Amino acid sequence: SNIPKIVILGAGYGGVLTALRLQKQLNYNEADVTLVNKHDYHYITTHLHMPAAGTDSPENARVSISKLIDEFKIDFVKSTVVQIRPQDKKVILEDGTLSYDYLVIGVGGEPETFGIPGMVEHAMNIRSINSVRLIREHIHYQFAKYKREPHRTDYLTFVVGGAGFTGIEFIGELADRIPELCKEYDVDPQLVKIYNVEAAPTALPGFDPELVEYAMDVLKNKGVTFRIGTAIKECTADGVIVGEGEEIKSKTVIWTGGIRGNRLIEEAGFETMRGRVKVDEFLRAPGHENIYVIGDNSLMFNEEGRPYPPTAQIAMQQGVVCAQNLVGSIRNQPLKKFEFSNKGTVASLGKGEAIGIAFGKKYKGRVAAWLKKLIDLRYLFIIGGIPLVLRKGKIF
Ligand code: FAD
Ligand code: NAD
Repeated sequence: SNIPKIVILGAGYGGVLTALRLQKQLNYNEADVTLVNKHDYHYITTHLHMPAAGTDSPENARVSISKLIDEFKIDFVKSTVVQIRPQDKKVILEDGTLSYDYLVIGVGGEPETFGIPGMVEHAMNIRSINSVRLIREHIHYQFAKYKREPHRTDYLTFVVGGAGFTGIEFIGELADRIPELCKEYDVDPQLVKIYNVEAAPTALPGFDPELVEYAMDVLKNKGVTFRIGTAIKECTADGVIVGEGEEIKSKTVIWTGGIRGNRLIEEAGFETMRGRVKVDEFLRAPGHENIYVIGDNSLMFNEEGRPYPPTAQIAMQQGVVCAQNLVGSIRNQPLKKFEFSNKGTVASLGKGEAIGIAFGKKYKGRVAAWLKKLIDLRYLFIIGGIPLVLRKGKIF
């Protein structure tokens, strides 16, 4: 048939929003839409710090894709993309091949390790349901091991590399979880050490200094030791080397030092900066009118020429415009320029504590924590309506 084929790679924030919007806007037989994702579930990345620390279950951070999309309108393929071939308009999957007329790349980013020796081999990342399951179980196991070898206090030392929002949100949860684990395993809480190591001269570089100070105070009071202005130079099986060669002995290193584009993008031959594609104003890869790149793999600049940080917020907004432009292309209508509308940033610091800027105002403490909850519930509502809010929202 000559019905145009749209293939969406990745069911993350950008991919799901694109699929949902296409499902709504396309008329019957106007296009064939296929959504490809590694797992048969979508994960709520913005919740992953909780299951990673064990303050929530991994189950709560994922949603079955069949519950989100209408499979009469969109074909879902559970598979892993292994290669994107723009010259051939094909995508190679681990178990097959798809051809497309229009492609949406939304496979999400990967941890940036800056070539730090040992980081890939010895550190864990907060990236997916499987990666946080590992962290959660690993932390438990350290407590169990310590009970068998009580001289090994390095089992009770936890290092988080990077004090960006991911590191800060995770450490807030971890600090909440530690007292529970100490009780469960009969461990003296004084023996547990939590380090947050940050290379920049401040935690949350670029964020409001007053809120950063508030966040650090909250976390210090929960027992976190900050090592600010201290770079991790190496990660080994025994811990990390920081600053001028100092070793912090630990069997648990969580790396939250930043995100880069997915390697599939570079391998496909797109021009990239830190693995990301600098897209045009319509979200297309330069030189490819039929390929859209959204979310953590896309690079866009604000008026001051600074790149927008890779967030779920921008990925969702891109998904909406991407869908609109796909429909526009198919109907030979003009495309819409993407303009980011910044709704603010709110970050959790563990139970009942958060910081944030929204509606041009600063928030901290319990009010900020409510705001965070509202943002989380709003997302569940957008992708899955009231039923999903009730199932995963933990509102009771
Ligand atoms: P992702 O959401 O990363 O999804 C990518 C999808 O592609 C996944 O489903 C994955 O399984 C799939 N995939 C990957 N590779 C393949 C492959 N080869 N084949 C097939 N499928 C593949 N941002 C905010 O705005 N607000 C927040 O509060 C916030 N909190 C965060 C908290 C944490 C702990 C973390 C880690 C991030 C947070 N972020 C937040 C950032 C946000 O999660 C990301 O920017 C966002 O998820 C990017 O969306 P995406 O659509 O690019 O891809
Ligand atoms: P990031 O890039 O924002 O932060 C990484 C941090 O690691 C930086 O502060 C950096 O200076 C530090 N770092 C880098 N190399 C280091 C080294 N060798 N030693 C020590 N520290 C080092 O990454 P992230 O925190 O994963 O966030 C990724 C994106 O997701 C960002 O855009 C962020 O805004 C977004 N996010 C948002 C929220 C939220 O809004 N609540 C939560 C999590 C993540």
